[in-house]
Order: sequence, then structure tokens, then C-alpha cells
Amino acid sequence: MAVALVTGIAGQDGSYLAQRLVDEGLEVHGLVLARDRTPDQVPAGAHLHEADLRDTVSLASVVRDVAPDEIYNLGGISSVAYSWEHPVATGAVNGLGAAALFEEAWRVQEYLGRPVRVVQASSAEVFGTPDRTPQDEDTAVRPVSPYGAAKAYAHHMAGVFRSRGLGVSSCVLYNHESPRRPTSFVTRKITAAAARIAHDGGGTIALGNLSASRDWGWAPDYVDAMVRAARHPTAEDFVVASGESHSVEEFVAAAFTAAGIDDWRAHVAVDERFFRPVDTAQQVGDPRKAQELLGWRRTVGFDELVTRMVQHDRRLLAA
Ligand code: GDP
Repeated sequence: MAVALVTGIAGQDGSYLAQRLVDEGLEVHGLVLARDRTPDQVPAGAHLHEADLRDTVSLASVVRDVAPDEIYNLGGISSVAYSWEHPVATGAVNGLGAAALFEEAWRVQEYLGRPVRVVQASSAEVFGTPDRTPQDEDTAVRPVSPYGAAKAYAHHMAGVFRSRGLGVSSCVLYNHESPRRPTSFVTRKITAAAARIAHDGGGTIALGNLSASRDWGWAPDYVDAMVRAARHPTAEDFVVASGESHSVEEFVAAAFTAAGIDDWRAHVAVDERFFRPVDTAQQVGDPRKAQELLGWRRTVGFDELVTRMVQHDRRLLAA
């Protein structure tokens, strides 16, 4: 039975991935933080280990004990907004933590004499304000946020360990959403607010930059891309994106329409507090390499994604 280790198993992507791997019959292990309560969304069959990515001793002992065939590094600080408040911690967890994981994977591979495949969950934020649209695997890595800089270091270390003989693929994931997104992300913040305003018959939501555009996809599709990357004969970089960009304003309009509210402008206030010191204006990825080499396809488009999230939030209020 193949063995998988998932860092960040309690998060959005980790929980979808764990379910997928358990269903495929793998022995699944996951890293959680001591302070995480065991979330209901982590499948019962997964084995949980407490370790912080910053604690290299504990991390190494989990990797050695589990001796995984596949490692997915999804753990870390996931919010760009938060990374501006905690830039050093973001570097330690998202940057050095990833490097420590690759190092230990390489050691286990050397010791066991069989391949350990690793997937790094990289991010469109590594491109910062991109020099081309859409972005692909050759776009310059030039981050403009603490989160992006930490992910850029991990992305480069994936390349370094790849040349050392470890099969690490770096999946450059564009924003990917689901009902499991926390409300610190703009998508879920909007869908939760649209559902609440529809439920209460009124109310407002305060948002930041409405003109920023993001390439939003459905999280389980991005998990599928990472599994395909782990099992592809060669380890490489892959941009994983829908190829379409929509503004925050378009997301708001779609969410309010899905909640049955026509005039979204009456319910939205712009608040300086939610602006970033530097914000990438537009992100859009070119997923052709992942499509051609991995046979990856997205299954859920923008309108369907927004509708699913709003419906979920409406059901939570109706319950
Ligand atoms: P990110 O792309 O990983 O930073 O994901 P987010 O969902 O946090 O932000 C996406 C975009 O929405 C960014 O350009 C933000 O500046 C913008 N945005 C506008 N208003 C808000 C808000 O109230 N909260 C958040 N998190 N982002 C906002």
C-alpha cells in the first residue's frame, strides 16, 4: 500500500486531498498543529501527527517514521493579507519549512533507496506584478508580498532539490476556492455576506480593492492536479489555473445574483482597512502545460464556483 504524507491536512486543500487519497486506498498521514482542533472534514482513516513546519526535529522524525512514497506540502500560512502582518513567521513556515521538508524527503529517499515524490503547493503570488499575461512556467519569479517571497524561496528550493535527485514538482496554484475557504479570503467573505444579507433581508459588507482580478478555480480540481503531478514520470513546475480572470467586483455581482439580490451596490462599502500595502492588480495563469503533460482539466467554471459557495452558505443559515 502506497503511503502519503500531507502537511496542512486540516486545511481546505489538505482535507480534499486526504479524502481523495483515502478513497484510492493509500495509507494517509497528515501534519497538524497542536492548536488545531481535529476538523470534521479530515477523513477518519487519516493518521494525524502534531508538528509545526518550523520545528525541524519533529518534522524530520515524522517524515522518517512515515517513510512516505508521496509528500504533499500544503501546510503553512495561506493568507497574503496575514503575511503582511507576520512577514518573518511567513518566511519561516512557508519558506524554510518547505526546505526542511525537501531535505528530509531527500534523506529518506537516500536511506531507503527508493523514490520519494514531493509536490510543493506554490502560488501565483511568486510572480508578483507579472511581466506577462497570462503567466506560465517561464514567467519571472518576482514577488511583491511577504507571502509571495516565502513561496518563491520554496519554489526555488524545489528546483534545487530536483537537481539533487529528489522528484519535487512545484505546482504554481492560482487562487482556488470552495465552501471550506475561511472568510479571511475575499471569496468566502463575499459568499457568506451575500447569504446573510439575503437571509436577513438587508445589511452591508465592507471590502477592500474591488478592481483586483484573480484567476479563481475550484479547490478539488487543484488537488487533482497535484496528485497527477506527484505521479508524473518527471518532476517539473506546473502552472495550475483556470485561464480566466475576474475582478473582485465581478465576484461580488455573481454572488449577490446567486443569492437572489439584484442591487449589490446598495450592500457594499469600500473600507481602506482591507487594502494591501502592495496588491497585484491582475493574475491569470496559462494551464496548457498541466493540461498537456498531466491530462489535467478543470471541471468547475467561475459561475458554478460562485453558485456552489453561495448555496453552501445559504444552507448553513437555513440549518
Ligand atoms: P489572495 O489573492 O491569495 O490574496 O486571496 P484573497 O482572497 O485574500 O484576496 C484576493 C483579492 O481580493 C486581493 O487582490 C485583495 O486585495 C482583494 N480584496 C478586496 N477586498 C478584500 C477583503 O475584504 N478581504 C480580502 N481577503 N481580500 C480583499
